Amino acid sequence: MFIHWSVDVQLGTIISHNAAASSADYQDRYFNELQKYYKPKNFDPDEWAKLAKLAGMKYMIFTAKHHNGFCMWDTETVDFKITNTPYGNDIMKEILDAFRKYEIPVGFCYSPDDFYLNYIQGIPPSRNLPEANPDQNKEMWEIEKEQIRELLTNYGKIDFFFIDEYYDFANTLVADYCWELDPDLIITRGGMETPGQKIPNKPMPGPWEACFTIGRHWGYVAEEPVKDGSEIINMLVETRAKGGNLLLNVSPDSHGIIPSEQEARLRETALWMMANREAVLDIKPFKVINEHISSNWHYEEPEHYIWFTKSKNDNVVYAIVPAKNWGVGGYKTFFIRSLKGNADTKVSVLGQQETVMEYKLKTTGRPVVAVAAINIMEDSPLFNAGKGAVFTNEGKNELDASIMDGSNLQAGAVASITTVKNPINAALAVMLHSPHVMLVGAGADEFAAEQGLEIVEPSYFHTERRMKQLERLQQKETSKTDFHKWGTVGAVALDKYGNLAAATSTGGMTNKQYGRVGDSPIIGAGTYAENESCAVSATGQGEYFIRGMISYEVAALMKYKNLTLQDAANFAIHEKLTQMGGEGGIISLDAAGNIAVEFNTRGMFRAWKKAGEKAEVYFYTD
Ligand code: ASP
Repeated sequence: MFIHWSVDVQLGTIISHNAAASSADYQDRYFNELQKYYKPKNFDPDEWAKLAKLAGMKYMIFTAKHHNGFCMWDTETVDFKITNTPYGNDIMKEILDAFRKYEIPVGFCYSPDDFYLNYIQGIPPSRNLPEANPDQNKEMWEIEKEQIRELLTNYGKIDFFFIDEYYDFANTLVADYCWELDPDLIITRGGMETPGQKIPNKPMPGPWEACFTIGRHWGYVAEEPVKDGSEIINMLVETRAKGGNLLLNVSPDSHGIIPSEQEARLRETALWMMANREAVLDIKPFKVINEHISSNWHYEEPEHYIWFTKSKNDNVVYAIVPAKNWGVGGYKTFFIRSLKGNADTKVSVLGQQETVMEYKLKTTGRPVVAVAAINIMEDSPLFNAGKGAVFTNEGKNELDASIMDGSNLQAGAVASITTVKNPINAALAVMLHSPHVMLVGAGADEFAAEQGLEIVEPSYFHTERRMKQLERLQQKETSKTDFHKWGTVGAVALDKYGNLAAATSTGGMTNKQYGRVGDSPIIGAGTYAENESCAVSATGQGEYFIRGMISYEVAALMKYKNLTLQDAANFAIHEKLTQMGGEGGIISLDAAGNIAVEFNTRGMFRAWKKAGEKAEVYFYTD
């Protein structure tokens, strides 16, 4: 729990920042009048601490001094302090005592910016004037050192310190001094990453802390809109899944009461924590942060993930499904694809009896089978995918891939990537771990690296054979062996439950220019899968496959014209593609296990295997 509370709460909003660049009259009033009236009549820190405890807060950080310079403790250094108000008591001690009573470790938020010290030194309160900052203002720094010393030595063991400052030099100055006084002090802001009002896209190395308000402001503002409870719980889950702590702010009013809307949100969090605390406490990030929800249940929100955390001590993975409007009762099915179970795997729902849960283990997922097949071909220099990919006009290898899961119409694709060893794995990661379908270029490479996929130097993809092919093409000499110049690899798969998947990976066309992207990463053109019709993967002149939507054409003919897979494949290749003037072929499979492979070129390397049968392999038309 973060608490922002200072003398200016009497004005109904936080105005610390506004003191910068204010007039002399304004400052006279601010620094002399406010403390005459401060007497929070309903202040009861025991209430704050109980609420924090129930909501699962593991530590509390109180703003000892914000930028306005008002000291919320009995300091010897200045008169602008709590003990010079009608309240009179050392409020800091009362707050710390209350939280310690509930065994909540405590810390301070302290601002080296101090507009009151600027004011008494006759410096315009400012952030930009060097002399208004402690690292350039010796007298100011001496006072602040004394303040920090009081805070860290007069109140027993302080666990945390949060340096509320924008400038690295002030953070460093204060952090070094704090550690001189207490080498074991945990400094959050100033000592680690502390993103404010945002959660980073990926886990950050080392410990980190995300700081969020419940409303919009850090200090009390009357009747301000607050985040809803599920948003706060989702923030907590996402932060924890990425290995951070959530520091959630409350802003008591001038009477010392935490506003009822904020209290309500904390009680909602408390309810969630009552059932689910194991999933966010004493955990570490799991190797997979999240996966896109795959369910039989319709979600209202556009982006939904299952988040994962892992217990520190046992082999337990928590899968947290955030949801609004969960509804009462009803049967909901979730497919968790990032976890590999076995016969001994136990599954339960936190806070619920075992009987509410039915768990089925599927040992082979369709997309995974297709990916495994493609990985073998990507790793072989013989195919135009992964290692062995063709060269662009500039002598680079730019790779495209896509995958589609026919059971839920989820898809992922990458285009023009240059550093991912197995592009199909990047497409799978886009499908499973991003809200998007297609990522291109440097962004896609970066995403793949964040997902922990194997990254290689672009030169890994170079092969002598492909370089010669490029040279020949650039000199306009076509070789007799170039008839199979479309060497894209594809796989279609069907499992015993009738689920289809399709996947395609390629280097594209030799000598391609201007960032050209072909059909392979385009869903519907180079790849398509849906259980009710078929799974298709294509190779050939991408431009024709894109304009003809050849893969989807096969599915559409089956669905809307009731054609068999074989008839639909024949039509798509030998009529539509051929009439358009395009060359290439497809492999396709329907939910009954029928296979149709059609091409209008001289040959197409192809193979298939059905459970319990021998594999079949073909090269040319026979
Ligand atoms: N279809 C791929 C493309 O146009 C090329 C190929 O199949 O080899 O990029």
